[in-house]
Amino acid sequence: MAIDSALPSPLGTPVCEKDAKALRFIEEMTRNADSVQERVLAEILSRNGETEYLRRFNLDGATDSDTFKSKVPVVTYEDLQPEIQRIANGDRSAILSSHPVSEFLTSSGTSAGERKLMPTIHEELDRRQLLFSLLMPVMNLYVPGLDKGKGLYFLFVKAETKTASGLLARPVLTSYYKSEKFKTRPYDPFNVYTSPDEAILCVDSFQSMYIQMLCGLIMREGVLRVGAVFASGLLRAIRFLQLNWKQLADDISAGTLNPNVTDPSIRKCMENILKPNPELAEFITKECSGEKWDGIITRIWPNTKYLDVIVTGAMAQYIPTLDHYSGGLPLACTMYASSECFFGLNMKPMCKPSEVSYTIMPNMGYFEFLPHDPNYPPLSPESPPRLLVVTTYAGLNRYRIGDILLVTGYYNSAPQFRFVKRKNVLLSIDSDKTDEAELQKGIDNASLLLKEFNASVIEYTSYADTTTIPGHYVIFWELLVKDAANSPSDEVLNQCCLVVEESLNSVYRQGRVADNSIGPLEIRVVKNGTFEELMDYAISRGASINQYKAPRCVSFTPILELLNGRVVSKHFSPAAPHWVPERRR
Ligand code: AMP
Repeated sequence: MAIDSALPSPLGTPVCEKDAKALRFIEEMTRNADSVQERVLAEILSRNGETEYLRRFNLDGATDSDTFKSKVPVVTYEDLQPEIQRIANGDRSAILSSHPVSEFLTSSGTSAGERKLMPTIHEELDRRQLLFSLLMPVMNLYVPGLDKGKGLYFLFVKAETKTASGLLARPVLTSYYKSEKFKTRPYDPFNVYTSPDEAILCVDSFQSMYIQMLCGLIMREGVLRVGAVFASGLLRAIRFLQLNWKQLADDISAGTLNPNVTDPSIRKCMENILKPNPELAEFITKECSGEKWDGIITRIWPNTKYLDVIVTGAMAQYIPTLDHYSGGLPLACTMYASSECFFGLNMKPMCKPSEVSYTIMPNMGYFEFLPHDPNYPPLSPESPPRLLVVTTYAGLNRYRIGDILLVTGYYNSAPQFRFVKRKNVLLSIDSDKTDEAELQKGIDNASLLLKEFNASVIEYTSYADTTTIPGHYVIFWELLVKDAANSPSDEVLNQCCLVVEESLNSVYRQGRVADNSIGPLEIRVVKNGTFEELMDYAISRGASINQYKAPRCVSFTPILELLNGRVVSKHFSPAAPHWVPERRR
């Protein structure tokens, strides 16, 4: 249907007036990126210039970017921790923001083992919602007919806690899904989910996933897109289906709900959705009982046009598995966001994952792209890696996010960039981010168990094994056992796995305990001399013998093959590590 009032946008022809408005907004913001950025900074500084933090830098009322950049330093979370702690403890004065801090968003990035706490203010919810509202208008330019069916999205809320002064602390999407903005959103034919809000909002991950999968199966023919926030989440849903299809089929056949689903609001809403359907149950049994799971997504949801999951950054490791289960459906990475700020969107969401560039939306905050490390030569002269630095309405000033980006070009005058990686992350399976120091601490602690056997770890490296679902950390280590008659037992080595896990940050442990998004950590003991072979291999490929250090994480197939070929024993964590929603400090 032609929309009279909708002018074709330079991006394409919008399918409805609402989309036309959104596309016009994108055009307006990106065409005037520089002036929008100056305006955003001026707005932020006019309202936050008198905060305790900014007063330290004597801006004297200046709101321009030159003065701002020359007087206010780039900071990290650790620099702001005293201020953040005071806010968490109940100091309501204007420390970072002139507007009251409404809650803390808990980042998956950690500091001293705990999630970072990002202050936010009420109106930021509007900004986040605004960015969300731009995604479908762009997608509709590339995939027609998305209003003719539904999206099967696996969306979850996570545990929330309160700070000493009673401010809520929870992940940004939990905050969004629990907001009235989400719960009372108006009907939008392009944004209809199969999952009832009651299921999305259920904090018990089993019940939530069970119902979301059940509804996805019941409405299978209407499903036009399948998604989760990150690729790892969608694969977890597929694994859930592998483990639970029998019970799901029984429920569908009889029209009765699994008694393990106890949430009363879910049970009530399922009364209208779940009706006996033996034919569908038979179909599910036929598809799921076989050995062949390749292409399962397209067999169960035959009208799926694309998978909506982030597969950039660390999530790229899941692309082959997603392709396996979906028979190569397009993978759409639609946006780039964080607890600190939502940054931008992908203007070509159906492009290949390797070509994804996100376009900054200049109205979201004030952005700077600083050279990653001035002492390092750029990867290429035209496009040196950049660190993203943001200034937000909520009171972060020149805050370094920790993401490394490559600027790839511009959409109108808004910068576009490729997500390269998160700085210092060695291992990641889901939203966990483990750095070298954390892994080293884990190895040191586990090594203590080897002492009584007069054994020690000579060398180690690690690997994120995503061939299992959920994926898990693997540590290859070479031991020096001085007394073969008294070498550490299987049990002790299993225990070493658990000690490493206990030493890792709370996001890792939450993934293991509450989200089931990470499997038990594995130690593979390799035979003596393996790391010397690894060095020989690296030197044969040009590494300098003087500077050689064993890599602390590996992913290159020939190296993995070498290591796996030398494994003498494998050990797994025998229990889940300790985790409670409350922070340790
Ligand atoms: P959090 O700190 O838990 O709010 O997570 C935000 C972080 O997730 C970002 O700083 C990125 O490192 C990562 N992230 C978010 N969106 C994307 C994306 N589209 N591609 C790659 N990584 C992303």
